[in-house]
Amino acid sequence: MTASAEFTNETPLDIVLGAASARKVETAFGYSTVGQMLSHFPRRYMEIGELSKISELPVGEDVTIVAEVKSVNQRRMHSRSGFLLEVLVSDALGPEQSTLRMTFFNGYEAKRDLQVGSTAMFSGKVTLYRNHLELTHPEYSLLDAAEEADPRPIPIYPATAKFPNKKIREVMELVLAGIGTAGFPEFIPDPVLKSHRIPGRVVSYEHIHRPQTVTQGYAARKRFAFEEAFLLQLALAQRRAHRMKQPATSRSGTADGLLAAFDKTLPFTLTDGQLIAGREIADDLVRGHPMNRLLQGEVGSGKTLVALRAMLQVIDSGGQTALLAPTEVLAQQHYQSIKNHLGSLGTGGELGSDPRATRVDLLTGSAGAAERKRVLLGAASGETGILVGTHSLLSDMVRFVDLGLVVVDEQHRFGVEQRDALRSKADMPPYMLVMTATPIPRTVAMTVFGDLEVSLMRTLPPGRAPIATHIVPLQLPAMQQRLFARMAEETAKGHQVYVVCPRISEKAVEDDFLPMPIEPTPDTTASDGAAKPATMTVEKMLELLGSMEIFANTEIRALHGGMPSEEKADAMMAFDSGRASILVSTTVIEVGVDVHNATLMVIIDAENFGISQLHQLRGRIGRGGLPGTCLMTTWLDAEHPSVMRLKAVESTTDGFLLAESDLNERREGDILGASQSGSRSTLKVLRVMKDAKLIARAREAAESIVDGDDGLRTYPGLQAAVEEWVDEDMQAFLERG
Ligand code: ADP
Ligand code: MG
Repeated sequence: MTASAEFTNETPLDIVLGAASARKVETAFGYSTVGQMLSHFPRRYMEIGELSKISELPVGEDVTIVAEVKSVNQRRMHSRSGFLLEVLVSDALGPEQSTLRMTFFNGYEAKRDLQVGSTAMFSGKVTLYRNHLELTHPEYSLLDAAEEADPRPIPIYPATAKFPNKKIREVMELVLAGIGTAGFPEFIPDPVLKSHRIPGRVVSYEHIHRPQTVTQGYAARKRFAFEEAFLLQLALAQRRAHRMKQPATSRSGTADGLLAAFDKTLPFTLTDGQLIAGREIADDLVRGHPMNRLLQGEVGSGKTLVALRAMLQVIDSGGQTALLAPTEVLAQQHYQSIKNHLGSLGTGGELGSDPRATRVDLLTGSAGAAERKRVLLGAASGETGILVGTHSLLSDMVRFVDLGLVVVDEQHRFGVEQRDALRSKADMPPYMLVMTATPIPRTVAMTVFGDLEVSLMRTLPPGRAPIATHIVPLQLPAMQQRLFARMAEETAKGHQVYVVCPRISEKAVEDDFLPMPIEPTPDTTASDGAAKPATMTVEKMLELLGSMEIFANTEIRALHGGMPSEEKADAMMAFDSGRASILVSTTVIEVGVDVHNATLMVIIDAENFGISQLHQLRGRIGRGGLPGTCLMTTWLDAEHPSVMRLKAVESTTDGFLLAESDLNERREGDILGASQSGSRSTLKVLRVMKDAKLIARAREAAESIVDGDDGLRTYPGLQAAVEEWVDEDMQAFLERG
């Protein structure tokens, strides 16, 4: 290669590095082009300017030191397999030579890199071990003589054993030497760059990989974060603009229709949250363009009622509606609750029904042939106003005369594809309302659900009793007895108890429910030494409770996704009616289930669940004015990281607060669900929480361009960048919905 060559994104790396090195890069990182290599951004920088002296290291803080390796010593571990590498280093900065111990568990790389006499920059957290300071698994970068004298920050890249930091930096030198504005033209419009003080594209590549100062490096990072947010928001704004141009039947309702009649029968007044969200949705419905709205509300905030009122408005305008639920249990519950709410207004098609009444039907996978036929006919003839169901609503067999509104409960269980399948059942695009109880911070909503409008209900209906939450450490033997006694106390009072277990049986896990994309990967490692029994299962718990004297006269039922539908419905019915006092289940009861007499929620081995899941589970109790208690049991030590999650849930019942603390701790891949699909994280640089302000600004900039007279036409380079970004990254991103 020649230094004057102008690379582009697509330039193959073997032209730049030669075939052998290019192959190594490909093996290590999967990159084959200049563009991919340039997007391998440093995780952080180490800076000589911030060097600490070994003699003055502060315990518990992150430090960076430059030091010389004095000795390297390998020890076998007693308790576990593997080895411990001990490296003693010393610096020349202190009054006299001070030394510091560093340890690397299975430190194969460190053993190879850190030879006696070599100098490196180390960085990590200082800990105190047996009265000596040490760094455990510090990051390091070997320095040669020239670098020791060089004050520039050192980028620290995601690296592998075979492709360490130093080699990445060498590759980057070669790549950067050949880039210029011809191959990497600026596509962000100048006024946008200026008003947001964003550095140009080529300069930013230079600065993020070879900054003169750390500040320069971070400014460059901001460019790429902004670029990413901007392209994403442009694509979303275009989608939204496109949707707003499509026609949809306006559903203005009538003054004296079903909705009006229903409102008269309501035994309570709507909360402010319900009124405002209801108004927003009602306005959407008359707009004449397909609405896509996300209705967010705390567990128990009364979303179903808001959705039902919207459905009635559509029915009053001659349309039909569908409500899509993620599980059979939930579909069944929604159906029951809608029937109950509507009373005689929901008896359409039945003998002697109210003339204003509409027909409400339920379609699930377990419906018998005759029932199925009856339900399908009702929808296809236009008689059914509300069809509740699971994914079986998506089947080709389901036809409507005039589907006007689709309500989706718990958005994250359905992808865009499935929503599209429902949409395609209507001649005109139907309005779409998505309900979720998983609190989504605003910036996440803007990013992940960027093409949805958002309605938020933070208030709960009055009369909700408080819920007390406690962690129950099972290592204390007395605690187990306490736990069961507490359950017996509750049932003795005529109240009901949920017991949630992480698994169905030793063999079966719950797969009826897909994990939520924004759940973290649960950490189930027991702390060392604790005599933790195998994870509790629904089957074992059922057996255990059944064998206990205190529950001899108590009806105990199980509920999980592995049961046939009739059994599930039967168990739910038994609990709903109050006949069964204890329901042992998996997370199938996580959303929607609404039994007012339930006052105690026991979550077994709670560390298996994520924060939002725990919060959802807790929302199942305290619904009928009776105060609730949520007990989260765990075998883990109080200091275990997973117990921190439980402590967060214990400390507040504000779902939005929990969601934010939850998200702050997590990697973006988890938030966007990319880790689940196995693909790489969709957002490369952007951090949905940390970059909240930047995302908001990018959204504004994107909207003003898309809503402008010529849209993106004035900026062909930008349009191309958006399309490229959409092709590569957004497709997967949008598929998840
Ligand atoms: P969400 O789906 O948001 O978790 P639900 O729609 O299941 O909440 O409502 C929870 C309970 O509150 C239901 O029993 C419902 O009938 C009741 N409810 C809804 N709105 C009100 C209100 N404005 N006042 C009193 N109770 C209400
Ligand atoms: Mg609900």
